[in-house]
Amino acid sequence: MSCKLKSVKEKKKQVGIRSKLVLALILFTVFILLAIWVLQIRLLSYFYEREKFSELEEAYLEICEYIEESDFKERLEKTAEKRKVCIRVFVISDSLAKQIADADSGTDCMIHNLSYVLLADLYKSAKANGGMYDKRMEFNTDLMEESGDGIILPGMHNPANTVSAICVRTFYQNDNEYFVLLDSELTPVSATVNTLQVQFLWIACFLLVAAVIFATVLSRIIATPLTVITQKAGKLAAGNYAADFEGHGYREVAELAETLNFAAREIGATDHLQKELIANISHDLRTPLTMIKGYSEIMRDLPGENNAENAQIIIDETTRLSELVSDLLDLSKLQAGTLKPDPEIFDLSQLARDTLIRYDTLIRHNGYRILFESEGAAPVLADRGMILQVIYNLINNAVNYTGESLRVRVNITLREDSVRLAVSDDGEGIPPDMIENIWERYYRVDKVHNRAVIGTGLGLSIVKGILEAHHALYGVESAVGVGSVFWFELPLASENEEK
Ligand code: ADP
Repeated sequence: MSCKLKSVKEKKKQVGIRSKLVLALILFTVFILLAIWVLQIRLLSYFYEREKFSELEEAYLEICEYIEESDFKERLEKTAEKRKVCIRVFVISDSLAKQIADADSGTDCMIHNLSYVLLADLYKSAKANGGMYDKRMEFNTDLMEESGDGIILPGMHNPANTVSAICVRTFYQNDNEYFVLLDSELTPVSATVNTLQVQFLWIACFLLVAAVIFATVLSRIIATPLTVITQKAGKLAAGNYAADFEGHGYREVAELAETLNFAAREIGATDHLQKELIANISHDLRTPLTMIKGYSEIMRDLPGENNAENAQIIIDETTRLSELVSDLLDLSKLQAGTLKPDPEIFDLSQLARDTLIRYDTLIRHNGYRILFESEGAAPVLADRGMILQVIYNLINNAVNYTGESLRVRVNITLREDSVRLAVSDDGEGIPPDMIENIWERYYRVDKVHNRAVIGTGLGLSIVKGILEAHHALYGVESAVGVGSVFWFELPLASENEEK
């Protein structure tokens, strides 16, 4: 199965940002609704009862504060009124419980109708539980009858079939044992729950619809700029490097658009360079090959042309071809980082002087003048062969581009801890807007392809590669119509550095 097919299948499996957002918001809303439903509806009676019991507990604590006070009864009435509870207080002496006070919040609570047996049971339960006993009690007529205390007179509050929160406490104060009974009627919450449930259903429907609408709008706002960018990225992938990404909406998209614009520019430039490079390399390889082929054919077909001069042209072209191939190889190795300098200590001054010997023939036959000035021995720790290539390339360029003066200068100046080699010429110079690019392979100020006279077009990029591999400083100063100075600097080596 092809990669493309596979990626299309994978894409289909992935969920889009819109669906994800809608789904996430719906889930969130459902979760919130569920939480409200559980807390507000399902647990309503639980929270209500807890609230009632804590109210009874607070009433009991209040009673403890004033139970032995003279105004005890009035304060008991107030507590019952304030807390909406019914209270009965007994004092225990000689195993007998004697009611000393009671109060109610307006209605006759069930604790007033309890049988002695039930009262005794509640007392025992509290005692067995460390003086505290809370109970949710349902009262009915059977219970009342069983108690034997169940005759409800006309006009009395009928506590039958009611549910109450009962709080029983026994405690000692100043050697007196007290038995307090507190009661708060639990109103049935089922009616409220039903109302709430209906309300909840309406709210749930409304919220779900609102969540879907909100998520759709939000996802559209988020996804639209991304969709636009994706469409344009498709054009970029198809080779349209002029794609202009716009990042409206929010910061992340703006950043993405900016990055893609930068990538598009870079890919476009690289693509252009690559095409130019292939064109140049093919041209450069074809020129010497055509010459070799042409001269070989002439020498084969015309016996009179089979001379040393023509053979020399073939040899020269072959040399140029092999130089071009080895330059290309060097450059690709330098760029890949596989050609590493093999440092040794040598005298840069001496190396430059030796290099100039190669130009003797040029000087003698073509009238060039190469002036050499050095401030003395300049020991450096570097790859001798590579630095030789740098000097050679710089002098070659100076010779090629120097003007009618036919003059080239090579200067070696010593600084505190470095040595600087500069090659200057009186040529046309390089326009300032092009100076940055001359280090690129195949970049030429003069776009006319004139490789028949000049080098391979890779010279300065090899120089750059070598000097950067040595972490050396390098540069060019040039003025149009005045000339150029190409220079580099290497640190001076101390005697024991190589060791
Ligand atoms: P080539 O010289 O083979 O074209 P290089 O990489 O050595 O390739 O140089 C790149 C370009 O830099 C040259 O085509 C030329 O335009 C410019 N250049 C290099 N050296 C000089 C110089 N001394 N004076 C003017 N221009 C130069």
